[in-house]
Amino acid sequence: MRTNGFICATCGVQYPPSDAPPAHCPVCEDERQYVPIEGQQWTTPGELGAGHSNLFRHMAPGLIAIGTVPHFAIGQRAFLLRTPAGNVLWDCLTLLDEATIELVEGLGGIDAIVLSHPHYFSTMADWGHVFDCPVYVHAADREWAMLPDERIEFWEGERLTPLRGVDVYCLGGHFPGASVLHWPEHGVLLTGDTLLITPDRMASFMWSYPNNIPLPVRDVEHIGQRLRRLDFDSAYSAFWGREILLDAKRVVEESVQRYCRAVRGD
Ligand SMILES: [Zn+2]
Repeated sequence: MRTNGFICATCGVQYPPSDAPPAHCPVCEDERQYVPIEGQQWTTPGELGAGHSNLFRHMAPGLIAIGTVPHFAIGQRAFLLRTPAGNVLWDCLTLLDEATIELVEGLGGIDAIVLSHPHYFSTMADWGHVFDCPVYVHAADREWAMLPDERIEFWEGERLTPLRGVDVYCLGGHFPGASVLHWPEHGVLLTGDTLLITPDRMASFMWSYPNNIPLPVRDVEHIGQRLRRLDFDSAYSAFWGREILLDAKRVVEESVQRYCRAVRGD
């Protein structure tokens, strides 16, 4: 892991190596994130590794979720998909320690990393170097890649197939490049924050999650139309416990209708 390069403690994104912490974190200054009341906080890979570990959890056949404990920054989980064509890492974590490297290598390594949106960019370039694989970011979110790196591949359009049997769809909304991953063979949809899974095990949609700014109805209708073309039984969001394990396609369709009724004031 890179031993220099300050990390924003609020969003977990790493910046290029510098002697002093950067003056700003543009990711957190954006209205889809926030700067804490005590001001911008920075950490380093060494500090983070000294107090945190990654936890691995089997979610379904071939699907392992990885999260950092105790809670760090946004607190998302990443997913390792083990497919016949190779392993895909969906989203990413800031902490990449030796234990994580050995465990993931033991599971077959990583052949492609795909990011749902900029809030999980974390130390994605490091992961690409360590596992010697491409890191796919949608070109519409290029401006948020704070640490330029030759491993990062900006993809364009509506669909990316990082490995045979795995498709990523750009649905927009939360970010212009906000995407979901579809694994048809397993009937799995990984939603990042493109769809939020709610405590009542339905879906919702926001432009800014921390500041509770909703998406326009037209964006959510568009997301609903795009998802109608995909078949999936389960949907996993970026957060522990926030998943729909049965009949997810129908539940997401009902969620789109519920959201649009509420925002229109019907
Ligand atoms: Zn930040």
